[in-house]
Amino acid sequence: MTKKILLIVFLFSAITVFSAEKKPAYQNSSLPVEERVNDLMKRMTIEEKVGQMCQFVGLEHMRQAEKSVKKEDLLKNDALGFYPGIHSTDIAALVEKGIIGSFLHVLSAEEANELQSFAQKSRLKIPLLIGIDAIHGNGQLVGPTVYPTPIGQASSWDTDLVYKMSQETASEMRALGSQWTFTPNVDVARDPRWGRVGETFGEDPFLVSKMGVATIKGLQDPAKGYNMNVLACAKHLIAGSEAVNGTNSAPTDISERTLREIYLPPYKASIDAGVTTVMTAHNEINGIPCHADKRTMTDILRNEYGFKGFYVSDWLDVIRLSTLHNVAENMKEASYQTVDAGLDMHMHGPGFYESVLALVKNGRISEKRIDESVRKILENKFLLGLFENSFVIIPEQKKDIFNPNHLKTSLEAAQKSIVLLKNKDNFLPISKGKYKSIFVTGPNANNQTVNGDWVTKQPEENVITVLEGLKQVDPTCNFDFLEMNSILAKIDPNSIPEAKERAAKADLCIVVVGENSFRWDWKNKTCGENVDRSDLGLFGLQQPLVEAVYASGKPVIVVLVNGRPLATEWITNNIPAIIEAWEPGCMGGLAVAQIIYGDVNPSAKLPVTIPRSVGHLLHVYNHKPSHYTHEFVDSPKTPLYPFGFGLSYTSFNYDNLKLSNESISKTEKLRVSIDVTNTGLRDGYEVVQLYLRDKISSVTRPVKELKGFERIFLKAGEKKTVNFEIEPEMLKFFDKELKWILEPGEFSVMVGKSSDDKDLKIKSFFVK
Ligand code: BGC
Repeated sequence: MTKKILLIVFLFSAITVFSAEKKPAYQNSSLPVEERVNDLMKRMTIEEKVGQMCQFVGLEHMRQAEKSVKKEDLLKNDALGFYPGIHSTDIAALVEKGIIGSFLHVLSAEEANELQSFAQKSRLKIPLLIGIDAIHGNGQLVGPTVYPTPIGQASSWDTDLVYKMSQETASEMRALGSQWTFTPNVDVARDPRWGRVGETFGEDPFLVSKMGVATIKGLQDPAKGYNMNVLACAKHLIAGSEAVNGTNSAPTDISERTLREIYLPPYKASIDAGVTTVMTAHNEINGIPCHADKRTMTDILRNEYGFKGFYVSDWLDVIRLSTLHNVAENMKEASYQTVDAGLDMHMHGPGFYESVLALVKNGRISEKRIDESVRKILENKFLLGLFENSFVIIPEQKKDIFNPNHLKTSLEAAQKSIVLLKNKDNFLPISKGKYKSIFVTGPNANNQTVNGDWVTKQPEENVITVLEGLKQVDPTCNFDFLEMNSILAKIDPNSIPEAKERAAKADLCIVVVGENSFRWDWKNKTCGENVDRSDLGLFGLQQPLVEAVYASGKPVIVVLVNGRPLATEWITNNIPAIIEAWEPGCMGGLAVAQIIYGDVNPSAKLPVTIPRSVGHLLHVYNHKPSHYTHEFVDSPKTPLYPFGFGLSYTSFNYDNLKLSNESISKTEKLRVSIDVTNTGLRDGYEVVQLYLRDKISSVTRPVKELKGFERIFLKAGEKKTVNFEIEPEMLKFFDKELKWILEPGEFSVMVGKSSDDKDLKIKSFFVK
């Protein structure tokens, strides 16, 4: 070896040893997370710590807003920019300074990488946490797989499937640069006027909890080399789904009992499942805006339930403590109130950083309090592996997006989430070749309404509409399609007589109506976030359209594509076959067609009660005993369709309900079994539901509460025994002092195919 080479080798080893020595502990992936967090926090200035609590929207969002505005104009005019006074070109410097810790709505892997590269130039190189509303697939970006919306997922009553969809969503998120999704929405939906019902799992706290937990685990469980795949977010704390008038962000005024019995259980379940983040709600409850509600955030979720993750605020809701709720004079006071209540991260934009920093400097907020928030945020960044791997390797990870396996899951989910509401005289399924000409119309027949809310416009080839699904399933049939305006308020009145005429010429008619949740056409949507309704009938001219097609005298199938339950009493009374497709995702049109033609036997059950009218609200199955003492003078009090209801092309018989004991002690479990037989001619899935009722109690208890369910598959003629276990915890309730107790006495167990009494077998037992 020459002297020169020796020198190089020496220098190289020296550099290696030196840099190994210099490498700070927090960058050493072999150390435990706690040690890494401690090391990092010791190195951080207070400015960098507060920076970790700040989230901004992604660059593309800002760039879109700036398209028509020059930087000079933006600086002169606050109203023009996304963030007054801040231009997208300023973001790099803010990240490099270490005063932004997170972004949301980053719209491509390239954008995510660009942002992460800014973070790598910061003093401590703390990677960014990137969040997105991947509610049912990562659909806010162009290209990913879109699954059925949560209300459809809940209709499947299939927690394994929800787990799988969530895992796949997580991998598509990672492939596009996000590691945090603002889901599950565990709001218990009790008012269908609220436009966000579609992004919930329905009206029952037990079902919402099970679905929420499956989502959280599917998202967060380790996968593909990550200790944690992505962060989930249980939202929105709390009860905004029962706001006055059913409108988003309006006040909620509910009793402590309702809060404890209905709205809190899904949060308890989410925390027990290890949810890493919780989002606070736009609304106030009982006079206190949720973002300033220390009792729910700190006393209940943190101290009582043991929530270990971090809180994020909802879109601009901190400033709204001042500008909307008027409980704070300005952003600084609002920031104080929310941090004092328990908030850890601010979504989104400037104002919070400056306020919190000033509050720490003047001693109103302690550095210890800031450390609590920062520690939790950093812990999660470490768990996500971001310090090792914050960049997306674009060509490699592309194969995770919209791949055949995910499409298969999306199709299966759609097949299992579509509810057959009515099937007079077994009109469905229709056989291929029987109808030579089928007239198809309706505003939702041939567009992306199947994708639902929280999805941007996807490439046409990524979505199977109902019409396309029908053509795929029955390629020899002549489908005569009459297009209607998908903007429901703009359906052309002249198209209605035309629909009647064309219907008369066909052998069968399929009308696809419902709601429109197009996020990218915010002004024209009738459903989804911030789009609430005062009526639950079909919007615009859809009802006259269905009636006109019916008046043609030809048989009619109605398919509903909608995010919220619709009170379609006339359709229920007149149309022989009705399918509730919800918003079934990118493969949904195919699943609808497969059900119409019988390639798939429907098996979904409603996770909400469908009321007859808006006047019937609040209409839920788990109501109190006196709820329906008197009739309405003008309408039956029964729902249009009960919770848990859904038809199949086969029939199931329930028999031989057995309890392991007639009476049990307060600590014993009770086993319940029932025989379910497929008595029809087709194989099929059935969702077996178990409800409980406390017969006499010191405070009023619901007439029934779901406490168990099982989705089973039975071949034609097959019988299975389904077993449940009733644990003492399931029999408890909040007494007069709101203590969680089990009162001795008589209980009813009801098992069957829906929450309707006529569908349930019933037996009693005693607790001694
Ligand atoms: C919604 C949240 C959502 C957030 C970010 C808000 O308007 O209420 O559910 O996660 O925006 O998109």
